[in-house]
Amino acid sequence: MTIRPKIPMPSDQSPEPVSEALLEHRTKIVAVANQKGGVGKTTTAVNLGTALAAVGKTVLIVDLDPQGNASTGFGIESAARHQTSYQVVLGDTPVAAATVSSPVPGLRVVPSSVDLSAAELDLADMPRREFRLRAALEAVHDRYDYILIDCPPALGLLTLNALVAADSVLVPLQCEFYALEGLSHLLRTVELVKRAFNPALEIQGVVLTMFDKRNNLCEMVASDVRQHLGEKVYRTVIPRNVRVSEAPSHGKPVLLYDHNCPGAQAYIHLAGEVLRRDRAAAP
Ligand code: ADP
Ligand code: MG
Repeated sequence: MTIRPKIPMPSDQSPEPVSEALLEHRTKIVAVANQKGGVGKTTTAVNLGTALAAVGKTVLIVDLDPQGNASTGFGIESAARHQTSYQVVLGDTPVAAATVSSPVPGLRVVPSSVDLSAAELDLADMPRREFRLRAALEAVHDRYDYILIDCPPALGLLTLNALVAADSVLVPLQCEFYALEGLSHLLRTVELVKRAFNPALEIQGVVLTMFDKRNNLCEMVASDVRQHLGEKVYRTVIPRNVRVSEAPSHGKPVLLYDHNCPGAQAYIHLAGEVLRRDRAAAP
């Protein structure tokens, strides 16, 4: 039996029937998204994923940014990226064939390459262009506890594919002057995606990143964000920590590079919060 969600669709792109098996799946697909660059998306995808794997969850990281920083962050050399998220999104390669192992036990990666920058254009003319990643991930929906999608810094077709494929959006937010403005733009986009393509999409949470408690603006923005979004903002705050920024150049998540540094510990706390919330929300 299949269940077809009844939602108004733009043009003729009604969603694929969703099978019951998919509705009961145990995988949680999380898009790590923010249209702004340099706010900690990749760092969060890499290190939250690692912390989840460290407590025994099976994790897939999908690198959906042509810059490939998540792939580099796991030490996956360009030469080892034979099949990438580009072929996966185009439907030329199954996810399993593009998946490579990482230095973290239990965590695998679909790497990206610069080819992916052509995807925005390639996808534009394709049928069901918003559903490509969702369709691809259906093949592995029972193999992982968490699939984290590291989005590019734009609200184009790639991020749209991530939001359509995801159960929830995790928003890393850097505490700076225009943070709330950017956030409301993103939240409006999430609402539009919910209405048009993915009614089940939820806000997983907002995580404050690169937090500097000596900076008054940081404190002000943080309290503003908490006032606006309340419980949706994680209690865990990721501090600005030089060890976090050094780790990628060693091809390692900070949890492997320096497990005891404040940044690594913060990502462990964040994983604890994510797991507790997901458990509490489970039917
Ligand atoms: P995005 O994926 O949103 O573009 P990144 O995760 O790549 O952002 O982070 C941008 C830069 O900031 C990177 O150089 C990264 O190493 C650095 N960075 C991220 N989080 C921290 C942190 N908590 N402390 C110090 N540097 C950080
Ligand atoms: Mg990034």
